[in-house]
Amino acid sequence: MKIFLATGNKNKIEEIKKIFSMENIEILSIKDGIEIPEVVEDGTTFEENSKKKALEIAKFTNMVTIADDSGICVDALGGAPGVYSARYSGENATDEKNNKKLIENLKGIEDRRAKFVCVITLAKPTGETYSYYGEVCGEIIDEPRGEYGFGYDPHFYMKEYGKTTAEMKDFKNQISHRAKALAELKKNLDEILK
Ligand code: IMP
Repeated sequence: MKIFLATGNKNKIEEIKKIFSMENIEILSIKDGIEIPEVVEDGTTFEENSKKKALEIAKFTNMVTIADDSGICVDALGGAPGVYSARYSGENATDEKNNKKLIENLKGIEDRRAKFVCVITLAKPTGETYSYYGEVCGEIIDEPRGEYGFGYDPHFYMKEYGKTTAEMKDFKNQISHRAKALAELKKNLDEILK
């Protein structure tokens, strides 16, 4: 059975490949030279965006396809930046600019609760979709810490570990929002592919 991963992010490809390294499943991605069209992420929820990506690419490749959408939701900002996490600071957004904007918007605000959210969708070329949710809670700190990860990791502090997710080498494959959503998908995979 071949499953296509609809992401251009090499870290995500490796992360997901590791989780699905089982017999009888061959994971393919753009790294195998398969070109895919860009999917416009114009949904207002993580689920909408991940479903849209998975479905469009499943139809394009004619393969069972997995896609994800993720971001950070900050309580005091009414859940922002949410689905706009990657482009929070505008068109030429970078991680640095996004983080700067986040910290500025939280100036003087005591409530720093936030969560990383991920929705993973598996879509079949015939149109069925299966979506799974994962989240991890933390709080936003003003000063960046740590060198692992990407995006908002240096500002996402998890009290129970006493570290930001950028200080946690194993955050991505063990306790992350994406790892949780993928674990749910994996649990249901046999049934889905039956
Ligand atoms: P996308 O799911 O690739 O569209 O990513 C959305 C954005 O959310 C990323 O560009 C990051 O800014 C942020 N994000 C998602 N997951 C993480 C994470 O695990 N750590 C830090 N930032 C994340």
